[in-house]
Amino acid sequence: MTILVTGGAGFIGSNFVLDWLRGSDEPVVNLDALTYAGNLENLASLDGDARHVFVRGDIGDRALVDTLLAEHRPRAVVHFAAESHVDRSIHGPGEFIRTNVNGTYTLLEAARGFWSTLPEAVRAQFRFHHVSTDEVYGSLAPDAPAFTETHPFEPNSPYSASKAASDHLVRAWHHTYGLPVLTTNCSNNYGPFHFPEKLIPLLIVNALAGKPLPVYGDGRQVRDWLYVGDHCSAIRTVLERGRPGETYNVGGWNEKPNIEIVHTVCALLDELRPDPAGPHARLITHVKDRPGHDRRYAIDARKIERELGWRPAETFETGIRKTVAWYLDHADWVARVQSGAYRDWLQRHYGET
Ligand code: NAD
Repeated sequence: MTILVTGGAGFIGSNFVLDWLRGSDEPVVNLDALTYAGNLENLASLDGDARHVFVRGDIGDRALVDTLLAEHRPRAVVHFAAESHVDRSIHGPGEFIRTNVNGTYTLLEAARGFWSTLPEAVRAQFRFHHVSTDEVYGSLAPDAPAFTETHPFEPNSPYSASKAASDHLVRAWHHTYGLPVLTTNCSNNYGPFHFPEKLIPLLIVNALAGKPLPVYGDGRQVRDWLYVGDHCSAIRTVLERGRPGETYNVGGWNEKPNIEIVHTVCALLDELRPDPAGPHARLITHVKDRPGHDRRYAIDARKIERELGWRPAETFETGIRKTVAWYLDHADWVARVQSGAYRDWLQRHYGET
C-alpha cells in the first residue's frame, strides 16, 4: 500500500516522511506546492529512493489530486500542507484561507470521491488524517486547565481561524459522509529543518550571527513545546490505532514562557559555541507585541496517552539540546535556506524554479 502526504517538504511533513521511511517500506507520495516554506533539500537523503515519489502541486488542484489518488490508490492521506506562520497570516490572510480552508475542502472532496469507489472492506480501512494545531482553542488564562479535545474553538489569529475552519470541515466530512477521518491538534513543535522565521530556529540563527534576539512584548506568553520526532510518532500512532471521527490532542507537557525558551537556547549556545563577545543573552531585544497575541496555550494529552498508549520520547531538555546541536551541525542548510540557494538546488535536481 501507499500513503499520500501533503506538505511533506515543510518542517513537520519532511520530518514525518523521513521518519516514516526509516521505519517502513510503505511508499510515500508527497504532494507539496513548494511555497517559501517547502524545501526539498530536507529530503535529499531520499534521492534515488523509489519509496518516495515527490509531486510538486497544489492541494487545491482537484484534477491533480484526483489523478494522484487514482494512480497510487493510497490507504491513507496525511494532510500537513498549510500556510503556518501567524505573523504572515496577520499581514496576508488570503493565502491562509485559500490553502488551509479551500485547499482542505478540495482534498476532502477528492478523498471522499476516491474512498467511495473502494470495495467495502478496503473502505473501512481508509484514513484521512488531518494535522492541526492547539491554536484553534484560543488563549488560556494563567490558572485555567489545559485544553482538552472538548474545549470550545476560540481562534484569535487568521492562521488559527483558518485551521479551525479546516478542522470543522474534516469533522463534518465524517459526520455527513462517513469519511474515516482522524484529527490531531498539536502544540508548538521544534527540531531539525525548522524554517528560521519561527522562534527557536530564529533564536539560534540570529545568536550565531550576533544579531538581536527579538522577544515579543514581555516574553511571558506561554506555549507547550513538543519535539518534532514525538509529533511524528503521535501521528503514526493515531493513524494506526486512532478511532475514525476522533480528535486527539498531542503535547509534551512542557509549558514554558517564551522568555525561558530564549534563555535556554542562549545557555546551550554559550556551552556548545561560546561567543568571545560575551553571553548570547546580551542579544535579547524586546520588541512590540504581536496584535491579538494569545497569552497561553497548554495541551492536555491524556486522551492519546490513555487510549493509544502514546508518550513523547524526549523531554524539553533533551529535545532542545538535540535541536541546537543539529543547527550547529547544519550551518550549510541554514545558509542555503536564508540565501534562497535551495531554489537553485531544486532547479538542478528537478529542473524547477
Ligand atoms: P510549514 O510551513 O513548514 O510547511 C507547510 C508545507 O506545506 C510546505 O512544504 C509548503 O510548501 C506546503 N504547502 C503550502 N501550501 C500548499 C498548497 N496549497 N498545496 C500544497 N502544499 C502546500 O508547516 P509545518 O510547521 O510543517 O506545519 C505542518 C502542519 O502542521 C500544518 O498544517 C500546521 O498547521 C500543523 N501544525 C504545526 C505546528 C508547528 O509547531 N509547526 C504545530 C501544530 C500543528
